[in-house]
Amino acid sequence: MRLIFHGPPGVGKGTQAERISIAENLNHVSSGDLLRTAVDAKTEIGLKAREYIENGLLVPDELIVNIVAEKINSAECKNGFILDGFPRNLSQAKVLDSTLEKVEKKIDRVFSFTASEEVIITRIAGRRICKSCGAQYHELFSPPLKENVCDKCSSKLYQRKDDYPETIKVRLKVYKEQTETLIDYYNQKGILIEVNCNGGKKEIQQNILTGLHSMSEKERDTE
Ligand code: AMP
Repeated sequence: MRLIFHGPPGVGKGTQAERISIAENLNHVSSGDLLRTAVDAKTEIGLKAREYIENGLLVPDELIVNIVAEKINSAECKNGFILDGFPRNLSQAKVLDSTLEKVEKKIDRVFSFTASEEVIITRIAGRRICKSCGAQYHELFSPPLKENVCDKCSSKLYQRKDDYPETIKVRLKVYKEQTETLIDYYNQKGILIEVNCNGGKKEIQQNILTGLHSMSEKERDTE
């Protein structure tokens, strides 16, 4: 199965992609994580991408499409994948289609995640990450035992610069202007499933699994 988890930042698609990829033995491909790794490693792409990411803007297509294409054509994605954060605009969606067409594959389903703006802002603003081991926390929903200290490795937690309140607003605007339109694109292809994300993680996960399992065996092509 080849899936896309589409939706605004902070809607919870990354968390769900992680859970579903384990449950369904799919590879989780997060374009944001790929870019952050490049930034941390100070690669040429990372150095160019950094400022866009910190300011909440999309990085130019040429910095991300090749990395994602390489990943989905790699052995890691042989059993299928969940794309999280990609595509972010129409031209990326078209590149994705043609990349898959070349190997006679296609996207099977696009899960479109929605939640109210209030829920999204609360989720993003409270997000804290351990710089050392990458563990994720939330100030309100899953706080560490000791404030700002990772439960797992005792390192300090930090807030991503693009999770600062003023940058969240920019990211939501960018989503509306460039990414939301993909809902129509995939709806017209008849492969869109909407997922309401105002509820709890378990409930959302169950909704996704129900959507997945309603796909016929033929569609669940795992080649
Ligand atoms: P995310 O973790 O998906 O919210 O991505 C964090 C940031 O990485 C975004 O705000 C963008 O700056 C950049 N980014 C991630 N994926 C893409 C993409 N497909 N196209 C352009 N920029 C991206």
